[in-house]
Amino acid sequence: MTANLGGTELAAAIRAEVAAAAAELTAAGTPPRLAVVVATADESSAWYVRSIARTAEKTGIACSVVDLGDTAAPDRIRTELAALSEDPAVHGIILQTPLPPDAIFEDLASAIDPAKDVDGANPLSLGRLAAGLPAFAPATAEAVLALLDHHEVPLYARNAVVVGRSNVVGKPTAQLLLQRDATVTICHRFTKDLRQFTRSADVLVVAVGHPKLITAEHVAEDAIVIDVGTNPTSDGGLVGDVDADSVTGRAGGLTPVPGGVGPVTTALLLQHTVASARG
Ligand code: NAP
Repeated sequence: MTANLGGTELAAAIRAEVAAAAAELTAAGTPPRLAVVVATADESSAWYVRSIARTAEKTGIACSVVDLGDTAAPDRIRTELAALSEDPAVHGIILQTPLPPDAIFEDLASAIDPAKDVDGANPLSLGRLAAGLPAFAPATAEAVLALLDHHEVPLYARNAVVVGRSNVVGKPTAQLLLQRDATVTICHRFTKDLRQFTRSADVLVVAVGHPKLITAEHVAEDAIVIDVGTNPTSDGGLVGDVDADSVTGRAGGLTPVPGGVGPVTTALLLQHTVASARG
């Protein structure tokens, strides 16, 4: 029996807390504001930004989308991030990907004030996270842990395997699992015999961007599987990195796509923004 580890209920609870905090801040004269810097014409990125902006407005957080165009020079992006960091009316800053080919995400994100770095993109935030110091964690990584906690999945002394090592998802998720005393293995494109590692997982987190990469043969019986992947389909839908039909019946629990990690990620971005506005 594979439990459905959905995220919509948890996301709604976080959004309700955020809305109450945003109303208090607004009444006290500090209306929370999030700024999203965009330098791409990518349609799935535009869809994601619209969804953040819509959810922010619904919870009482103003959201400005600063679209610099897909030919923006790295210096132009850096200048904008620095200006938003200086602006006292802005409490959260997100640098959206993809970026123009000559722009290096981590390099530009270092221009985001760590106090406003609500998606944990500044390398300083990532370093602090790795050192166990207070910092905003990347919202997706935090969403993985929040979902595991919400569904009461124990982590202490368990084997956790993370497939994917990006700075935005894989690495910070591994750090957060390590902080919870899981034994953590990180796999990537050059991992030999992926199955050998994934089958050792009590908790398997997949963040690759490859539809249906993970099938029943990669999963131990009763393992908890968190599918971070969001891959657009030709009919306008989304599929994860895990073949849900294949692992259902073998895994102990699986997050749906959509409706799993995604809504919790957005809710946490907004939670970070009100935390930043509170100072
Ligand atoms: P990314 O930067 O492209 O990183 C993908 C990672 O997967 C890389 O570390 C890569 O290894 C690894 N990989 C690629 N092919 C592999 C294979 N065959 N076997 C094992 N590892 C492989 O992607 P990302 O930004 O981390 O995002 C990953 C997925 O999560 C995407 O589908 C993205 O859309 C989704 N996402 C979802 C949310 C959400 O809120 N739900 C948020 C962010 C991202 P190398 O490092 O060796 O290249």
